[in-house]
Amino acid sequence: MKINSNVSLKDKHTFHCECYAETFIEIDNEDDLYELDSKYPDIYKKAIFLGEGSDMLFTQKYLPLVIHCNIKFIELLEENINNVIICAGGGTHWDDLVKYCVENNLWGIENLSGIPSSCSVAPLQNIGAYGAEFAEVAYKIHGYNFKTHKKEVFTSNDLSFSYRKSKLQQMPEIFITKIEILLHKTPKPNLSYKDLKNKFQYKNPSLKEIRNTILEIRNNKIPNPDKIGNAGSFFKNPICSIEELEILKKEFPDIYFFPYTEKKCKISAAWLIEKAGWKGHREGDAGVSPTHSLILVNYGKATGQDILNLANKIIDSVRDIFNIELEPEVKIL
Ligand SMILES: Cc1cc2nc3c(=O)[nH]c(=O)nc-3n(C[C@H](O)[C@H](O)[C@H](O)COP(=O)(O)OP(=O)(O)OC[C@H]3O[C@@H](n4cnc5c(N)ncnc54)[C@H](O)[C@@H]3O)c2cc1C
Repeated sequence: MKINSNVSLKDKHTFHCECYAETFIEIDNEDDLYELDSKYPDIYKKAIFLGEGSDMLFTQKYLPLVIHCNIKFIELLEENINNVIICAGGGTHWDDLVKYCVENNLWGIENLSGIPSSCSVAPLQNIGAYGAEFAEVAYKIHGYNFKTHKKEVFTSNDLSFSYRKSKLQQMPEIFITKIEILLHKTPKPNLSYKDLKNKFQYKNPSLKEIRNTILEIRNNKIPNPDKIGNAGSFFKNPICSIEELEILKKEFPDIYFFPYTEKKCKISAAWLIEKAGWKGHREGDAGVSPTHSLILVNYGKATGQDILNLANKIIDSVRDIFNIELEPEVKIL
């Protein structure tokens, strides 16, 4: 375990806003958590757990205490003729795990290539993209429970995964340390996403072809946070009833929406923001991406507060025009 004071978080989150952790603790193995918990009871109550910081906006200059999972490994745990169980430390970059699985001919997470997540947070957020989500491969999730002072293991059934949600989000006492995923040895291409279906309609793609295509699509659409600070989609797609949608359609016939449940649908937040005139808008160094209106960006020196001010203006404007309340997807601290 490493404990440091006054650590800059600028390069430890993808918005790259100026912010410091008064105390920054790195967890290198599971035993560190017992030690930390026994020395500082209830420490988790005032701490922020941080992975890759790709879903965070820091609006304060100082955060009192940040705990970061630095447990990094990838290991094959079990295999039979059809399946393999892979275990990865929570601090492993998610995309390193995807690359490892693709290189070892294991099917299941190739569509999730390029998501800037830690392995710890992949189940917590139930990360998803291009027709796939973490829930489909979840096997076991290991964590340390700061309330019971014990290690805990969750199976997929315990966690009620749904769209970008899992029960782990309601368990602030759990520090996720490692994950186990169940993958297939035989080809199982998931081409449900339109662009993949079009590209591969005449052939069975290899794992590498799927991964490379997804990385290419992502690179063309999503600003690279190493070059322009951002946290991916800033807002959730708002959910409304079919009746509400019908009323909206009368005024906005081209409104873009996705089916959600039998009685509800999701309105595209990107469409609402673009229609309200915000795409490509810039205020100082805070802006809305010109290529993807759902992504707020830091062109260099924007503070977290600058980004939040812009987000609030977008929320107000979408409410005024459409009577719809946008909610941030990103965690604002
Ligand atoms: C360019 C870009 C593209 C993106 N594309 C996608 C996409 O396609 N699909 C998608 O689903 N998401 C996407 N995201 C969002 C983001 O990558 C995911 O939400 C990701 O899972 C966040 O992981 P993280 O490690 O960065 O978490 P962080 O931002 O560090 O933390 C997120 C939450 O997890 C908690 N946490 C952190 N570590 C632990 C731990 N060890 N134990 C318990 N809780 C912990 C934090 O306190 C916080 O509440 C994108 C983000 C960016 C910047």
